[in-house]
Amino acid sequence: MSKLSTILRYVMTPKKFKSRKHIEKVQRAGMKKHVRFIRRNSPFYARHWDGFTDEQWAEFPLIDKSIMMENLGDLLTVRLDVEQATKLAKKAEQSRDFSSKIGPYSIGFSSGTSGSRGMHFVSEKEQASWAGFMLSRGLDDSILSRQKIGLILRANSNTFESIGSKRIKFCFYDLMRPLEEIHQMILGDELDILIGPPSVLRYLADVKSPLKVNKLVSAAEVLDEIDRKHIEEHFGQIVHQFYSSTEGEIAATCELGTLHLNEGIMVVQKDWVDKEKGWYHPILSDFKRSTQPIIRYRLNDILVASKQPCKCGDARESIDSIMGRQDDMFLLKKRDGDDYEQIVPDFIRRAVMQMHPEITAYRAIQRSADEIEVQLLPKDLEPLSLEGFHFVWRQKNVETPKITLTNYEHKPSATKLRRIQREFTLS
Ligand SMILES: [Zn+2]
Repeated sequence: MSKLSTILRYVMTPKKFKSRKHIEKVQRAGMKKHVRFIRRNSPFYARHWDGFTDEQWAEFPLIDKSIMMENLGDLLTVRLDVEQATKLAKKAEQSRDFSSKIGPYSIGFSSGTSGSRGMHFVSEKEQASWAGFMLSRGLDDSILSRQKIGLILRANSNTFESIGSKRIKFCFYDLMRPLEEIHQMILGDELDILIGPPSVLRYLADVKSPLKVNKLVSAAEVLDEIDRKHIEEHFGQIVHQFYSSTEGEIAATCELGTLHLNEGIMVVQKDWVDKEKGWYHPILSDFKRSTQPIIRYRLNDILVASKQPCKCGDARESIDSIMGRQDDMFLLKKRDGDDYEQIVPDFIRRAVMQMHPEITAYRAIQRSADEIEVQLLPKDLEPLSLEGFHFVWRQKNVETPKITLTNYEHKPSATKLRRIQREFTLS
């Protein structure tokens, strides 16, 4: 049964959409059916959409992570014991055995970066169908050819195991293990495709791994330009990306390496941060996810819309980059007032890169209202310029914070890499 849904979904997922019209038709039909189903089966959404007809779904009140977690038991379209699920998921994380289930539902935890942990429930059928979708976005060749796919994961889950077959084999590498060990295992497995966090792909490039694969895919962390450059240079090929979160599979790259929104499975509306620059928070309405529906869910991430359509001919909208999380916008005191100005991660990234032309890795962390810590590799670069920072402070008319240099300390591990990070919060 589950293998059948995987293959069906694989076959049914178009590689490309020729027109916006076609996409919108798929979305309208998907949403219409889905909204009706959710209103009947999720007490939370039924309340939340009170006063709106199904046809008005594009204007339903928004939700976000905190609303979702507060109402989780009620938001699901099946009645599950959320407390019991929490216990099971915690146990799984400790034992690294991720087969825990309630009936046909798998439970997963997402690592909350700002303290709020996410939890997600998927049914067997959804998992199998999801796997088919991912395969169609990830594999260039037919599902019928032999493929060995390696996945480096923070938390293993039983999602992929369900589709291991004679032709398609998945190998898992748990990031809790030492990196050298993971590297040796990957080399021994002779993979066709390797999917993993960019920090680990970067590690493989840095140790000059002799690894040869047909496709490299960055997932689970935002791919920073500096990492992309090093990985592509070492392996001599494009780094592909899966941009996903607990809330869904948001985008994936086409053969040209452009990120296209997965508009065939979700509607992505825009909450503009800066329309002229093309910066927005995506509002997701996923019409394929039914156990834990995601409708009009505003994501914390800021995306940068592409100014030009992609040359590959796919009508799905593309994005230039994922700028990062709103939580990571730096907050600096305005010169002419008591409040704070938000500085997007991209400005900080550019200012850091201007410090020295030979920087190979960096982190910038805002530790307090007036202190930014910068970590650079290689060590002892000289001379360092702060001109890029001063330019931003002047443009934004904010007070100059103190910049302190410390040793670069991130090692790819169970902790997600965030190159630009804000650690302090306004109280
Ligand atoms: Zn494209």
